[in-house]
Amino acid sequence: MKNSVPIKDAWQHCPRCGRPAETKGEQPFECDVCGYFHYFSPCTAVAALIVDESGKMLFIVRGKDPGRGKLGLPGGFVDPDESAELALQREVMEELQLSAGAVEYLASFPNQYAYCGVIIPVTDLFFVVEVHNFDGMSAQPGEVDGWTFLPVESVSAESLAFDTHQRALQQYRRWTGLVDGTESNGVE
Ligand SMILES: [Zn+2]
Repeated sequence: MKNSVPIKDAWQHCPRCGRPAETKGEQPFECDVCGYFHYFSPCTAVAALIVDESGKMLFIVRGKDPGRGKLGLPGGFVDPDESAELALQREVMEELQLSAGAVEYLASFPNQYAYCGVIIPVTDLFFVVEVHNFDGMSAQPGEVDGWTFLPVESVSAESLAFDTHQRALQQYRRWTGLVDGTESNGVE
C-alpha cells in the first residue's frame, strides 16, 4: 500500500458542488459551501471457502494487484442492488466457471484495499460454499492466473494476498474442529 493514500485524503473536491475540499482528510467529509456530507463507509466484499470431496480447499492465484501472484479465496465486491449471496455465486462463476450451491455464513473481518493509488475500507464477508461439480473449471483471463486445491492446515499466511483470508481460514479450522478452540464458539 506504499504510495497509496486513504480515500478521505484523496478527495480534492466536493462531489456535489465542485468546491475544492477544505476539510480534506476528515471523516465524514463535509462541504462548507453546499452542506454535502459523506461518510467513507466500507465497501462490501465476499469470499468463498470451497472444499472438494477430499477436504482440500480451493484457492485462486490472483491475476492482478493487490496481491498479484499470491493465493486468495474466490470472490469480489458486492454490486449495488445485489445480495452478498448472489455476489458470491456471480463471482465464483465469473472467476472459475463454477456453480455455487448452498451458502453458509462464516465470519467477517475489516480489510483495506489499495487500488489506483487510493486505499478504500472494505468489509470482507466469508461464506462456506458448496460446489458439487468441479468439471469445466476455467480461470477468468486478467483476473485469475490459475487455481489450486490445498489442505487447509498447509496454507501459510505468507502465501495469501490478504490477512483477512488467513483469519477466515483460522476461523474455518475452529469451525470444523481442525484445531482446538471450537469451544470458544466465536470470532477472535
Ligand atoms: Zn459542496
